[in-house]
Amino acid sequence: MRSRIQILDNNTINKIAAGEVVERPASVVKELVENSIDAQATSISIEIVNGGKKYIRVTDNGTGIINDDIKLAFLRHSTSKIKKVEDLERITSLGFRGEALASIASVAQVQLLSKTKDSLSGRQVDVHGGEIISNKEVGCPKGTTVIVKNLFYNTPVRKKFLKSDNAESSHISETIYRLALGNPNIAFKYIKDNKLILKTPGNGDIYSTIYSLYGKEFADSLIKINYNGDDIKIDGYIAKPSYTRGNRNFQYFYVNGRFIKSRLLSKTLENEYKSLIPINKYPVCILYIDTNAKNIDANVHPTKIEIRFKNESILKYILSKSIKVALEEKNLIPSVTIN
Ligand code: ADP
Ligand code: MG
Repeated sequence: MRSRIQILDNNTINKIAAGEVVERPASVVKELVENSIDAQATSISIEIVNGGKKYIRVTDNGTGIINDDIKLAFLRHSTSKIKKVEDLERITSLGFRGEALASIASVAQVQLLSKTKDSLSGRQVDVHGGEIISNKEVGCPKGTTVIVKNLFYNTPVRKKFLKSDNAESSHISETIYRLALGNPNIAFKYIKDNKLILKTPGNGDIYSTIYSLYGKEFADSLIKINYNGDDIKIDGYIAKPSYTRGNRNFQYFYVNGRFIKSRLLSKTLENEYKSLIPINKYPVCILYIDTNAKNIDANVHPTKIEIRFKNESILKYILSKSIKVALEEKNLIPSVTIN
């Protein structure tokens, strides 16, 4: 009998992978900006039109891509960030799976322009639906620009699942807030339908970054958290109990620079606020946890929004202690002295 099992062609494989990595325009923004961050950019600008469905552009002043490497960047599992399986144990970059550009380019019309500091000219590559349609020398500044047009133009069913421009824009905004808060050393600029939406100073200061994004009233409600252990460091802010939210969307946790969602961390935070805020209200935080890469596993989720901690109980103990101390210092909870 003739064999019925076939190995899928690359374009089909990329479209399947795109189903995991590229859920909506905001996922494209996330992947492109993360690439810019990994390329040591100090300035990143994002422009979108029509909720990112029509047009997304991310420009950075990072390292750029070596001319000959540009077409490799669009291949699946092609990455400059890891080389072998042991590297997965010590990931310091946001990307490492080598999937994003290949996935995005398989479901959109992508143009990438890039130049390294040592190269005299840059390169422009156009990839439509996974096919390279042009690859030429151009003049451009050092860094990389990626333009993604007409997302899901060749996968009509997925396109149909996209929401209104407003709904998609708000996903993008949330994505950019997460990235901008997580990288106070990078100057972010976000333009939506020709209107400037946000700008961060990029001066490395967490407080002024928060201030630039949320304004004075919120910045005034912040309490500093700082723990400096050998193995774990925690930095950032919690908000006073008078400043709460109806959901967990204003709990920003970063581990080694990566925004994550973590039940463990949220519960630990909430536990310290339990007696201070009403039921159904959630405390607010922007916390940065730094630890040796070997203490976490980031390779558990395609979008890497969840990670695994090797030693949960120590982290939980340190976080709750740091929050307790900070709240006590502001006299928000009574400290008990035993004579
Ligand atoms: P990953 O980020 O997982 O390595 P991607 O598909 O997102 O995979 O990108 C593939 C490769 O293209 C990266 O490893 C990097 O070498 C290069 N690249 C992509 N975007 C940029 C950028 N903005 N600046 C410099 N290099 C980039
Ligand atoms: Mg990437």
